[in-house]
Amino acid sequence: MKECVFCKIASKKLNTEFLYEDERIVAFKDINPVAPVHVIIIPKKHYDSIKEVNDKDLIGDLFLVGNKVARKLDIHSYRFVINTEKEAGQEVFHLHLHLIGGRKMSWPPG
Ligand code: AMP
Ligand code: ZN
Repeated sequence: MKECVFCKIASKKLNTEFLYEDERIVAFKDINPVAPVHVIIIPKKHYDSIKEVNDKDLIGDLFLVGNKVARKLDIHSYRFVINTEKEAGQEVFHLHLHLIGGRKMSWPPG
């Protein structure tokens, strides 16, 4: 299977700077940020979306890494987002968690 852009980032082919890395997960800055803090947290393993994942530890760890990165970047108020499928705004079909913060946010999201 052809590697997607986030597979390439995870396997260090694009020289992306990581804010966090462990055996299964990496986090890096979004290339087109929608807020002062916008970090993408991904499993190194490719899943098209959250719908393909049955691994509770992995899903939990993505959020725990999000909390860690938020602490590291010193933001106290933030939002986690997982867009799933095109209509919900998913553009990259490799599961990722957005960590967004550093500005006031509104609800409901667009
Ligand atoms: P989504 O719309 O939920 O699929 O989010 C995909 C996100 O990935 C968008 O916010 C893009 O700006 C971001 N993105 C796409 N390519 C890259 C890249 N090479 N490095 C960092 N972020 C990227
Ligand atoms: Zn991938």
